[in-house]
Amino acid sequence: MTSVLSQSLLAKLAPFFSDAKTVGSYIGGEYIAGTGAPVTLVDPATGQEFLQYADAGAEQVAQAAQAATAGQKDWVALTAAQRGRVMFEIGRTVRAHIEPLAQLESLSAGKPIRDCRGEVAKVAEMFEYYAGWTDKLHGEVIPVPSGHLNYTRREAFGVMLLITPWNAPVFTCGWNVAPAIAAGNAVLLKPSELTPLSSLAVAVLAEQAGLPKGVINVLSGFGHTTGQAAISHPAVKKVVFVGSPATGGKIAAACAARGIPCVLELGGKSANIVFEDADLARACVGAQSAIFAAAGQSCVAGSRLLVQRSVYDRFVAMLADGARRLRTGEPLSPETEVGPIQNAKQYAHVLGMIQSGLREGAELAEGCDGKPAAQGYFVRPTVLKNVRNDMEVARTEIFGPVVVAIPFDTEEEAIAIANDSDFGLAGAVWTNNVARAHRVAAQVKAGTFWINTYKVINVASPFGGFDASGYGRSSGIDALHEYTQVKSVWVETSASPAVAFGYAPGI
Ligand code: NAD
Repeated sequence: MTSVLSQSLLAKLAPFFSDAKTVGSYIGGEYIAGTGAPVTLVDPATGQEFLQYADAGAEQVAQAAQAATAGQKDWVALTAAQRGRVMFEIGRTVRAHIEPLAQLESLSAGKPIRDCRGEVAKVAEMFEYYAGWTDKLHGEVIPVPSGHLNYTRREAFGVMLLITPWNAPVFTCGWNVAPAIAAGNAVLLKPSELTPLSSLAVAVLAEQAGLPKGVINVLSGFGHTTGQAAISHPAVKKVVFVGSPATGGKIAAACAARGIPCVLELGGKSANIVFEDADLARACVGAQSAIFAAAGQSCVAGSRLLVQRSVYDRFVAMLADGARRLRTGEPLSPETEVGPIQNAKQYAHVLGMIQSGLREGAELAEGCDGKPAAQGYFVRPTVLKNVRNDMEVARTEIFGPVVVAIPFDTEEEAIAIANDSDFGLAGAVWTNNVARAHRVAAQVKAGTFWINTYKVINVASPFGGFDASGYGRSSGIDALHEYTQVKSVWVETSASPAVAFGYAPGI
C-alpha cells in the first residue's frame, strides 16, 4: 500500500504493519504487494482518500492457495488439543489489541469507535469459543446389521475461501475464520476491497499467537478479479460468502460451475413488529438500536417497523424524537453514536432510496430528506412514516439509517406483512402477551427472531437466512458442520465374510 499515509494513520497501522508501504495481501506469513489495478481507501467521515494499494489478482491467488495447502498440512499435524490452545491464544492476543484494532476498524469502516471496541471483543470471543471445539468434533458409530462396523468422521475441506463485506469487516473475519480453522481448514480470506486492514491485522495477530504460517491468508483486492480468481482456483473446496444478494447469486453460479458447495449469508429487510400491548418505551429504544446502530449498515437491521394502528402515531413520534437526539458524527469520537455511510456508492443508494420513498408518498417524520451532507457520507437517522409494504423503500434493502414505519391492525396482518418480502434474515416482536410472542415467532419467516429485544447474537447460537437471505449457517455448532464434511467408513467384522457381488448383504 502506498501514498497519502498521514502520521496518525501510520500510528494506527504500526502495531500490525511494520512497513506500511509494503502492505498488500498477507500470504504464507508475508505481506506481498499487489500487482493489479489500484484500489483507493477513503475516509467515510471526510470523503478524503487516505491509502492506496494494488489489487492482488490471479497470480497472488495461486500463491495464497499454495501457501494455504501447505499451511493446512502443518495445522492438522498438530493434535486437536494443541490447535485448541493456539486458538485460545489467538483470542487472548486479539483481546490484548482491542484498542488498536478498533481504531483501525473505525477509521476504515467509518463505524463509531465504541461499536468497534465491542466488535473486536466479540472476535476474541469467537476464537475462544471455537478453541473449545477443536477436540470435540467427532463422528458417530451407526447401528448397522451385524457383520459390519460403520462409523463417520468429520473431516476438514482443506482450503476454504471466505469472502466478506465492508459493513462489519473485523466481525465477519472472526465469525468465519474461527470456525473454519477450528474445523482444521486453512483459509483464503477475501475481505471487501474497501476494508481489508482489520482482516490483515487479525491474520498477523493470529500468527503472533502461534498459528502456523499459511493457515490464514488474506487477499486484498476486488471481487470481480481477486474474488473470482479465488473461487476458480482448484485448491478451494468450499466458499463462504457474506455480502449482497446480487453478488451472492454470482458466487453461487461460479461455485455450481465448479461443482463445489457454498454458504450464502446475504441481506435482509427485517420486520420489527410492535403491538399496542408492548412496553412502548423499551420497544422504542429497541427500534432505534435495530435500525440506527452501525448507521443501519447491518444485515439484520430492523428496517421495516410494523406498528399496531392504535399506537402508531404515538410510537412514530417517540421514535422520531429518539432519532433526533442520537449523536451523529466523526467515528473516532467517543461521543458518536451514528457514523457515516461507508462508501460513496452506498451513500448515493441510501439518499436515492429516501427520495424514492418521498416520491411514492411516504412522509418524513424525522431525518434526512435525500440531500447530501456538506462533508462526508453522513445521513441523519431518518424515520419515514405512512409507508405501504408495496413501496420500493419497504422492499429493497436500504442499508442505511432509514426506517420505514408501516401500520397494521391485527396479528394476522402483521405476520402477513412481515412475510411479504423476498428476504428472511431476522425479525422481532414487542408484546407483553407471551402466547402471542411465540405465535408470531413461529410464523415469521426469519433465520433469527427476537422477542422483546433486538440484535442480540452470540457465537454459540446458529445464524443464517431463510429465502433470499441465503443458506447455510454460521456460528455455533452449525458452523462446524458447514466447515467439515462427513465421511462414512465401513469395516468388515464377521468371522466368515460374505463375498458379495454388488451391494453387501444386509444393506
Ligand atoms: P458485496 O456483495 O458488494 O461484496 C461482498 C464481498 O464480495 C466483497 O468482498 C466483494 O469484493 C466481493 N465480491 C464482489 N463481487 C464479487 C465477485 N463477482 N466474485 C467474488 N467476490 C465478489 O456486499 P457489500 O456491499 O460489501 O456488503 C453489504 C451486503 O452484505 C448487504 O447486503 C448486507 O446485508 C450483507 N451482509 C450480510 C450479512 C449476513 O450475515 N447475512 C452480514 C453482513 C453483511
